[in-house]
Amino acid sequence: MKVTIVGCSGSYPGPDSPASCYLVEAEGFRMLLDLGNGSLGALQRHIGLYDVDAICLSHLHADHCLDVCGYHVARTYGPDAPYPPVPVYAPEGAPARLAAAYGMPDEPGLETAFDFTPLSPGSFEVGPFVVTAGLVNHPVEAYGFRVASDDVCMAYSGDTGESAELVKLAAGADLMLCEASFVEGPDLPPDLHLTGRQAAEHAARANAGKLVLTHLVPWNDNARVLQDASRGGYAGPIELARSGAVYDLA
Ligand SMILES: [Zn+2]
Ligand SMILES: [Zn+2]
Repeated sequence: MKVTIVGCSGSYPGPDSPASCYLVEAEGFRMLLDLGNGSLGALQRHIGLYDVDAICLSHLHADHCLDVCGYHVARTYGPDAPYPPVPVYAPEGAPARLAAAYGMPDEPGLETAFDFTPLSPGSFEVGPFVVTAGLVNHPVEAYGFRVASDDVCMAYSGDTGESAELVKLAAGADLMLCEASFVEGPDLPPDLHLTGRQAAEHAARANAGKLVLTHLVPWNDNARVLQDASRGGYAGPIELARSGAVYDLA
């Protein structure tokens, strides 16, 4: 399994990265976890525009889903269009929400380019992967994902506050992509995002093999986020996500 960080900027694109998008590949199958704003551009540095086999959207905040709209244009009006619909696993309201963002009626919405399946907690097969979706703690319906293929496994937090479900999703994962949107400080709101320290605490409880801190907000000093993570009691390697980083989990 190969995991490429396409976009890791939290909440909005930064100067060095688009918003959330992770490419997970195995056996020639290419699946995206999130397609946030700006990520469709950077994605094309790694694979062809039409090479996406499936998309999972963690939740419907713009920084995780908005480039589905631009991708609809590419798949509906591109040079060899129409292209076959791409399966999209997303929270229940995704077709109407994305149609509204695009500026078209709910019917037919974006369904010429995408085949939407509503997410619910549990496991399902996508190509060579077993994907497990679990509800995490964020102000909207939001999922974290565990993606397994052969003997390797990665986990992605999506956006979440502290979450026992996230620990389950990441249990024994070779790679844990965990959000770290907050710098440690007083009066942080609950059930919204994690600090680096909290991300590391989750990785320690999950016994994950490697922790990559992601959803890094450009207004933060992310060196501090990494420092916070060193105080989370996690013994494994920790690094900051970077657009273009590749993790080979084979
Ligand atoms: Zn976000
Ligand atoms: Zn969010």
